[in-house]
Amino acid sequence: MRKGAGSSVDDQGLRGLVFDIQRFSLHDGPGIRTIVFLKGCPLSCIWCSNPESQEFNPQILFNVSKCIDCGTCETVCEKGAIRTGDHVDRIDRNACDECGCCCEHCPTEALKWSGKQMDVSQASRYFLKTF
Ligand code: SF4
Ligand code: SF4
Ligand code: SF4
Repeated sequence: MRKGAGSSVDDQGLRGLVFDIQRFSLHDGPGIRTIVFLKGCPLSCIWCSNPESQEFNPQILFNVSKCIDCGTCETVCEKGAIRTGDHVDRIDRNACDECGCCCEHCPTEALKWSGKQMDVSQASRYFLKTF
């Protein structure tokens, strides 16, 4: 795990805010590799293909192309924070308390929780998993 702005050292060791782990990557360097994506990048490159990396905290992402308009997220949200209609962002961030319930119930992962604290041993266990 590369140490970056989204990582820290505490009594549990080196930790990072991971937003994705990509296995069998063929396009980000030589060979076949597993990539750990960390949040907390301090740069703002205009060509960034992972803009969620620029946020320092966990966040909920909404991918409109995956949404099938089932309405489940609206039903499960106790804060009334889900906005339907033409909103590019499905969530009213001021009303949302980030409980994550809508992400857990979304059947298509159109709503997705992005950012999980992991230490090196947790990430390593993931790398060594075989499917
Ligand atoms: S491309 Fe994105 S993640 Fe990479 S350095 Fe630039 S802003 Fe950070
Ligand atoms: S639960 Fe997911 S698929 Fe259903 S309306 Fe909400 S975002 Fe769309
Ligand atoms: S994270 Fe919780 S409060 Fe926020 S929109 Fe989803 S269900 Fe509602």
